[in-house]
Amino acid sequence: MRHFGLSHRRTLAVATSCMIAAQPRSASQASELESSRQSWQCKICFAREVDAGFAGCGHMVCVACAAGLDKCPVCRKRSALIRLYK
Ligand SMILES: [Zn+2]
Ligand SMILES: [Zn+2]
Repeated sequence: MRHFGLSHRRTLAVATSCMIAAQPRSASQASELESSRQSWQCKICFAREVDAGFAGCGHMVCVACAAGLDKCPVCRKRSALIRLYK
């Protein structure tokens, strides 16, 4: 019981710090830039920009993640992967 209470409290602390990080106090321009950058971020590894996509559903991942996938990780639809060029 004591262990559960500790881990629960830590989860709360992490969630709170995430909320603070997600809300910059100033510069709407900076957050706009950040959100446009995030829209290109791979939703699987969060480390690379997307440069591959599933032809059937249009969801995008990076080529490093796409290499190990045979279907879309977002909607689980099976379709051909295509390379994306910006
Ligand atoms: Zn990735
Ligand atoms: Zn999909």
